[in-house]
Amino acid sequence: MEVSPDHLGLGQATGYAWSDGNCHAAERAHRPDREHDSSLRCQSCRDGPADPRMQPGRSVEEKGQTAFGRVEDEDEDQEKGSEEVKTLSHSKMECFKKCRRKYFWEYVYAIRPEVEPKALRMGSAVHAALDCLKKGGTFAEAITAVEQIYTEATTPGSSLEYEQTTVLALVANYYDRWSSSPVEVVESELRFELPLIDPDTGDPSRDYILTGFIDAIVRMPCGRTAIMEHKTSGQDIEPECDYWRILTLDGQITLYVYAAQRLEYDIDTVLYDVVRKPQIGPTSVPVLDDDGLKIVRNVNGERVWNANGTPRQVGSSENGYVVQTRPMRTDEWAAKLTNDIQSRPDHYFARQEIARLQDDIDELMQEIWDLSIAIKEADARRHYYRTCSRDTCLYCPYRGLCETHFSPISGYVPSGFVRVDRNSQVEEEVTV
Ligand code: SF4
Repeated sequence: MEVSPDHLGLGQATGYAWSDGNCHAAERAHRPDREHDSSLRCQSCRDGPADPRMQPGRSVEEKGQTAFGRVEDEDEDQEKGSEEVKTLSHSKMECFKKCRRKYFWEYVYAIRPEVEPKALRMGSAVHAALDCLKKGGTFAEAITAVEQIYTEATTPGSSLEYEQTTVLALVANYYDRWSSSPVEVVESELRFELPLIDPDTGDPSRDYILTGFIDAIVRMPCGRTAIMEHKTSGQDIEPECDYWRILTLDGQITLYVYAAQRLEYDIDTVLYDVVRKPQIGPTSVPVLDDDGLKIVRNVNGERVWNANGTPRQVGSSENGYVVQTRPMRTDEWAAKLTNDIQSRPDHYFARQEIARLQDDIDELMQEIWDLSIAIKEADARRHYYRTCSRDTCLYCPYRGLCETHFSPISGYVPSGFVRVDRNSQVEEEVTV
């Protein structure tokens, strides 16, 4: 499907909404003048010296099954006193907190649904486009990034054309919304690996390192430096909505502020950049004749005419008259959505600053340390109890496995799932 800014009813866009169109990664504020702590690694210095404890853990292949969640080669490693250091990402920790059994499926048995959920797919596509623009890419390149995701998407029996068009319309109008609000991108998609520090002793964990991706570090027009976090949401994002209040509790960004500070960025605040997903969708549209008039048919499929010989233009349930319709084309859907966005841009796009205090960071780091102990214990004992509730199970992709009491089988991937590399899962930290 070809979609261009013109196609979406917009002019040619060639740069990121709030950059000057140049990639500032090379000018990043990594402070080369400062002495580096060799135990810290970010994207731009990941080849530098690193603490040997931070070598990524090897991938694990299941070699045997002894009980629920037990994997023989890992057990052997533990008996040998394995020095493996594991990663802790925000997603992994949240998964563990939500349901330990889900954590097992996702991070220990390492399987994921074959078909990515729509919310994640759309979030990934919007992120890909914004990241491309953020790095100084053209709009055409951003479109290509979105198309790449939908080319690779597998959704049996379902066309993703409408969804792709939705993402492209959102991205194009996002550019339009923020082009007059320049924010200089200092760093984009910054990956970090940091020692996990015991808050009581100050010593690094021998078991875990913290990993994650920061969407962007930006310099705002006032000169302050902010962590910028992109989100796509289906909730209301009006200024006083609960959505923003809940973000004050968002541990993911608190972790990112902590990480950025450890990487020697002076972070003043957090700037949330939210795109709301449309609540409207493609509809059926009337079929028009050569004169541009609707076609109304009776129960026999015959066109209905008025007494004066003109074609009837409205249906009637009483008489069984129906307006002939067809599915909306993707270009019509793009135009409809663009009209809606442009009539109420603040409904779709919003930014708010929600700063983090040192107390927030201290509390989170204690929580992460405590969690690391709980995760280590669960992994060592191979005990992953279930947290069953409407909130956790109803939309859980592993529900079928739990309902059928599926036990992990050596090397076996259940139908509808794919095996993933546990060490690469941090790459998939997309928040919606
Ligand atoms: S279905 Fe429920 S119990 Fe099973 S993994 Fe998902 S959230 Fe946990």
